[in-house]
This record gives sequence, structure tokens and C-alpha cells, in this order.
Amino acid sequence: MMQQFYQIKQQHPDKILFYRMGDFYEMFGDDAVVAAKVLQIQLTTRNKNKDDSIPLCGIPVHAYDQYLNKLTSAGFKVAVCEQTEDPAQAKGLVRREVVQIITPGTIVAADLLDADSNNFLCAIYRDKKKKNVGIAFCDLSTGEFEIDQLDLNGGSGDLMELVYLYKPREILLPKTENNGEQGFYKDFVKQSKNMLASSQEPHIEYLDPFQFDLRSATRSLQEHFSVNSMSGFGVDSQSVGLRTGGAVLNYLKETQKDTLGHIISVKQIKKDEKMILDESTIRNLELFETSDGSSQKHTLIHLLDKCKTAMGSRKLRRWITAPLLKKDAIEQRLNCVTAFFEQSELLDKIRLILIKIGDLERIIARISLPNTSIADVVKLRHSLEPLVELKKEFNQLQSPQLKEMTGDFDPLDDLFQLLERYILPDPSVKIKDGGYIRLGVNKKLDRCKDLMKNGKQLIANMEAEEKSNTGINSLKIGFNKVFGYYIEISNASKHLTPNHYIRKQTLVNNERFITEELKELEESILTAEDEARTLELEIFQDVKKQLQAQISRIQKAAQIIARIDVLGTFAYNAKMNNYTRPDFCDNPNQRTIVIEEGRHPVIESLNFDEPFIPNDVFLDSQGGFILVITGPNMGGKSTYMRQTALIALLAQVGSFVPAKKTQLPIFDRIFTRVGASDNLTRGQSTFMVEMSEAASILNNATSKSLIILDEIGRGTSTFDGISIAWAIIEYIHELNALTLFATHYHELILLERQLVGVSNAKVAVHEENENMVFLRKVVAGDTDKSYGIQVARLAGLPRRVVNRAKDVIKELEIAEKQFSTLESISANDTPSTPAFEENIQMSFFPPEEPWMEEIRNFDLDNKTPFQAMEFLHRIKKKIG
Ligand code: ATP
Repeated sequence: MMQQFYQIKQQHPDKILFYRMGDFYEMFGDDAVVAAKVLQIQLTTRNKNKDDSIPLCGIPVHAYDQYLNKLTSAGFKVAVCEQTEDPAQAKGLVRREVVQIITPGTIVAADLLDADSNNFLCAIYRDKKKKNVGIAFCDLSTGEFEIDQLDLNGGSGDLMELVYLYKPREILLPKTENNGEQGFYKDFVKQSKNMLASSQEPHIEYLDPFQFDLRSATRSLQEHFSVNSMSGFGVDSQSVGLRTGGAVLNYLKETQKDTLGHIISVKQIKKDEKMILDESTIRNLELFETSDGSSQKHTLIHLLDKCKTAMGSRKLRRWITAPLLKKDAIEQRLNCVTAFFEQSELLDKIRLILIKIGDLERIIARISLPNTSIADVVKLRHSLEPLVELKKEFNQLQSPQLKEMTGDFDPLDDLFQLLERYILPDPSVKIKDGGYIRLGVNKKLDRCKDLMKNGKQLIANMEAEEKSNTGINSLKIGFNKVFGYYIEISNASKHLTPNHYIRKQTLVNNERFITEELKELEESILTAEDEARTLELEIFQDVKKQLQAQISRIQKAAQIIARIDVLGTFAYNAKMNNYTRPDFCDNPNQRTIVIEEGRHPVIESLNFDEPFIPNDVFLDSQGGFILVITGPNMGGKSTYMRQTALIALLAQVGSFVPAKKTQLPIFDRIFTRVGASDNLTRGQSTFMVEMSEAASILNNATSKSLIILDEIGRGTSTFDGISIAWAIIEYIHELNALTLFATHYHELILLERQLVGVSNAKVAVHEENENMVFLRKVVAGDTDKSYGIQVARLAGLPRRVVNRAKDVIKELEIAEKQFSTLESISANDTPSTPAFEENIQMSFFPPEEPWMEEIRNFDLDNKTPFQAMEFLHRIKKKIG
């Protein structure tokens, strides 16, 4: 057996081999040592004290999912080696084969996946000559498959953004020697590790470069989709993309040992039609997790995801990460939301039906793969059942868009009927054990089942008969795996045993016998069980085949359900949270934001003690298009700016928005940066992160972008910070991009006077004595105070520190007044730092008194103690 193990292991040296032995998967050697540590299970030794002793650990087959999860999460690959023949029938050693390889990017088991997010496998290939890069993503658990190719002339920013958006669990790269390519892939791996949190870090798998060969990759794709050209999928010109698509497909086939019938199409990612949100915008707007990465609560997705199906939740996530860029497409979604909003009773009915529908996409993917469980088929049956009812409700929809979307919705009734006819409603059994096919499907099976059921009765009848024939009341008929059925007679009644009983076993208190009649009955019962199991399996495989033939219909229905679920959720949220439909500027060149009474969707939902105060926004590319916002700490600057970005984003996703009235342009990008957020784990200081993010905005923003900058420049010294912030605003001013810029540098309010298009706003605060009331209203004008010390007092800083800070600030203000250079800063003239700092220093160290000079010059070493006393006395008199 160990020889067989080593042979198989040799073919999978880079994986942990789950070697099936009875009800356990055993791991041997190094695999056992590693797995025992990761899984925290007992490590033992096989053949202890012998020459061929080897480390060993094992896990029960019935609970293997959870162990597999731990190993794949830790970045390991697992090869599952099964017994591929019945041990009872095997002559000698049971045949074993690797039936599946599970890697982080190829997981399909429901328990191992997040229902509301995808699990992508990715491949990347760079074409050095063409200076572009191919990228493919495939989610094996849903069948989604997308490819694209990107230009590398402007750097690898676009590539990294896609990787951040799709968050692949595993990335396939060509294995390269020192051929110059190494730098690119090495940098890519480093950057993706830096960009993604450690829990999301992808597993990197290096493949033979041949896997990316254009001809063989294209051939694989064409063969898989049974086409002569990839033009039908609109990806035939994506030659570098096709290389990665082929590599992904081959890798999946290789690991799954399957033809992957549920991957029925491939799409181009179509970056041009969707807005790319970069990492820091996603983080700073807290779309999926709070900006410190600590929680998924209090995020936009948490607020919005009221979807009733897992398919809807996944789609919502993908829509939010990719807002639309085409007005028609946005309006189409909005029309659907409006229609649901207006037919809210019908929407409620539809949502009640959606709850009953399971994750059709993933169920059908698992059914199409080799290890289907009966539970998946049962889930499919339950999910198909409500579809006819759903179709009826769809027929009530009034809006042309919704009608069009649901018009050809296929309720898949024939598939439900198929399962209804063949499969029992809720069998909780394993496929190989049988017990899930209905009566009436197959005559032979019915006969076997009858015998199995009646067999028990027949045995009971025989037991009663033998009792009366022998007069032994304690006589019992029992069963064990070694002897099968037997008659048991206690020692006390042994003398009454009839002659035709054949002795089989003697125990301490009784004896066991068989009779010819009992053996005949046993054979017919046991054969019936075996035969029934085989027949059930055959029928199941046939049903599975019929389902597999209809995968595309099921996937299409699942897509419609997902879309309806998200649009319905938008309408539901709009009703519950009082959102309104956004309008877009008619003229594509007009860039005006008008938001009346806008709110921050997440903060307003948190129900803090104070009610949320709505605010207006007005920006216009022809008028004031850069708003410099000043105001107290905690005043609401960040909230105001982020709510503007979130409203713009939601509008382009096709959702209603938290505002009374909104008119927006279509933005090509939304950039949100917040100053001073550390990223020490990536080896970047606070200021470095801030500046890299600012650089990425300035390099990528256009006049059609929305830019939100919150306290940019605060991570360095005041003067460096002011200068950088100043220069950034000037740069954006030339760009003519709509911008909100919050700052504590009051000096920046001077820009309003210097640059047409820049205006000042402040968050209002009411001050009474020492008390401060935040009014949360953003109004025109500027403020020359941060109220930082008051906020520090509110935060509970010791009174002594607060008072000292007040003294220091007075000194600084005096120094600042003495120095008014900033007033004269022109667009090309940055503040003269040394002079100002010298001035501040002067305010801390008062001018020197004449007696100080006297002390400094007093030659202490050459004076007598009396002379020193006299000197001190004189000085004391002077000071008074
Ligand atoms: P800092 O300058 O210190 O960063 P800030 O001016 O950016 O502060 P925010 O972080 O936007 O202030 O707001 C602080 C808190 O005030 C928010 O967490 C929220 O609880 C509350 N808040 C902000 N805006 C509003 C509003 N419009 N209505 C009610 N509460 C608000």
C-alpha cells in the first residue's frame, strides 16, 4: 500500500495528498507533518519502531470540508486520492486515483465559500513585444469566465486595479528563468501582496510557459466551446487575453479532472464601459469594509445588501465595484428601479418568492462537476419549485424594461418536474448509499425496495415461526457483517435446538446457528439492497446528465433572478431609506453637480443621538468647480465629501440616492483620498502613502473625474504640507475637474482670491463661551479656526494639557500675525519657510535681557567665592 502511496505522491509532489483509507483520508510523511501543524491534529507514526516508520495523520471523510478549508486558506493545494473500486470486490490492493485537486482558486464546496462574493482564479501573461498584458478571471463555482488585455504603456495601474476589484484567490503566472521577464512578474507579485490585505493575499501558481502558448490556448478554448473561432464571444482579437483564458481553462480541467460543462461562455471584461474604482477610493469610501479594515459592518455594502438571493448579493457587489459609464445603461437600470418603486406591492411578492431560491449558479456548477451530492440536487429541486410562481409575478410587471428583462424568463418547470418525478423530497443520504429515488420510477428498483422493506418483515415472521416450532421463547434472529443473518439460542435452551440447525458460532452465553431457509432469504434481501443501490446510482447519473444538458438555461434564469433581485433591492432601499432617482445632465459636456439635501447613506443609518443634517452641493465646471472646505475638527467635512462621492457612485450604479434632488454629470472616475493613513505593513510611511495616492490621482484624473481630497498634505511639516496642497489645487484647477478639498490649512482659503473657479466653504459651528455646537451645515465662506483644542477638551484631554495648548496657540498666533508673507503668495510663489519658522521660534524664546549677557561673560573659574556671592547679589537686585 505504501508503494502505491509513493507512486501517486510522486505525481503530486507540490500538494498534500489525502489518501483514502476506509472512512479516513490519511496523510503520510512531510504531508502529515505540515498538515498536522496547520490543522492542529494529532501527528503519529505508522510502523513505529520499524525501519519503514513514517509520520502519519488522518481526518474523517465525513468532516473533510473544514480541514480542506483550513489548508487551502493557508495557501496549500490538496490532491484527493479516492478508492476507485469497491474494496469488497478488489482482488488484492484496492485501486486508488487522484480524482480532484483543490487549490484556493478552485473551491466549489458551499461550506468553503462566501455566498455573497466570487472566488476567482486568475491568469496573467505579459507580451513583452506588444507591451500589453492578458488577464483572465474564472469563478469555477459559478461558471463566470472573463478575459481582457491591457496596455502597459501607462504602467501597470490598470492591471493592479482589476486584481484589486476581482480579488482572485489564486493567480497563475508563467514560470520564467532569468529572461528579463522576471522583473515584471516579480513586481506584480510584490504589488498584489502589498495591495491586498493578508487575508486576501492570492496564492501564486507558476505554470509551464507552454500553457500560455497562443495556438494551444486558442485551440483549448475553441474545443471547449465547440467553435471554430472565438469571434462569437467578441474576444478573437484579444490574443494576449486568449493566452490567459486558455491557461485558466486547462488548469481547471487538469485539477478538476472534468470537462467543465458549466463554463458555457467567455466575455470580455469591457473596462471601457465600466468605471474602475481604485483601491484607496474603495477603502476610503468604506464600500466593503471600514477604512481600517476592521469590520464589514457600517459599510455601504452592508447597508445596501438587502438582496434575497446569494446570486443577487454577488451581483450587487460587482455592480458597486464597477459603476456604469454609459448614460443609456444607467437610465435603463434606473427605469427598472423606478418601476419596482411604483409597483411596490408586486415587488414585495417577488421578494418573498426570491427568498425561497437557493444559489442556482453554484448548485448547478457543483452538479456539473464530478462530486455531486444528493444535497445539491435537493437544493436544486427546492430552488426550481418557486420559479413558476415567480414567472407569474413577472407577467404582472408594467415597465417595458422589466418586461424585456423578464420576458424570456424560463421557469424551468420541466426540470422541476424531472426532479419531482425522480427524487424524493428530502432524502438526507449519500449518493452511494441509495434511498433517494422515488417509487414508480423503475419497476426493478421498486421490486428490490419491496423486498428490502418486506425482508425485515419476512425475517420477523421467520423468527416467530422458529420460536413456535422449537418452543424456545428467547430465540432471536440477528445480523452481523461477518456471518449475515443468524439464529441465536441461549445456553439454557441449547438442548431444544433442532437437528437441521447448522452451528456457526459459540459465545459465552449462547450459540448462533443458520438454516438453509434463512440463508436463502438473506441472499434475496442482500442482493436486493445491492441491486437497489446500483439502480439508484444509474438513475441518478441519468438525471444528472439531463440536468447538465440544460445548464445554460439554468444559468440564464439565474442571471435574470440576480439582476431582478438587485434592482428590486435598490427600489426597496429607496422606499425604506427615502432615496430619490438621480438626474443626469442632458449635455454630456456639461459638468455640474447639484445635490439638494444630500445625506451620507451609512452615517444616517447609524441612528446616532443627533439627527443627520442634510447638506447641499453645487459645483460647476464653468463656475466654482473646486470647493476648499475648512471648519472644526469633527464638524462634518469628511462626511460631506464622502456623501457626495457615494451619491455619484450610487447614481452610476443605477441606484436611487440619499438626497432630495440630484443632478449629476457622468464621471469617468471617482477618486477619494484621505491624508495620513499609515500602511506600515507595506513598508510605506503615512506621508508616502498619502503622496503615492495623490500622485495616482494627478496622473489619472481627467476633467470628467470627481476628486475628493481630505486633508491632503497633513502627514508632513506644516509648510511642506501647505505647499504641496497648494500646488495640487493649482494642478487640479488646470485640469478643470470637479473637486472637494477639505483642509485644516487656513492658508489655502487664499486660493479663492487667486484662482477663478475655486471657492471656499466651511462647516458651521456655534460657539458659546467655551462650548461648541456642531451645526453640521456646510455654508459659503471660510473659517480661520480648527477648534482642535476644544475638540481635544471634549475628548477628555487633561485640563492642564488643554490650558497649556491654549497658551501655546496664543504665542503662535502672535508670531503668525507678525508674519504675513502668505498673503503675498502668488500662484508661482511658495511660502518662504525659514523666515516664518524663525518668527515662531522667537515667540517661544523671549528677547534676551541685559543681565543674561552679564552672566554669560562672568568668569566663574577665576573668582573667589566672595566675589561670586557679590555678583549674584547684584544680579538678583537687577531682576528684582
Ligand atoms: P476632522 O477634521 O476631525 O477629520 P471632520 O470635519 O472631517 O473632522 P467628520 O469626520 O465628517 O468630521 O464628522 C465627524 C462626525 O460627525 C461623524 O462621524 C458623524 O457622526 C457626525 N456628522 C458628520 N456630519 C454630520 C451630519 N451632516 N449630520 C449629523 N452628524 C454628522
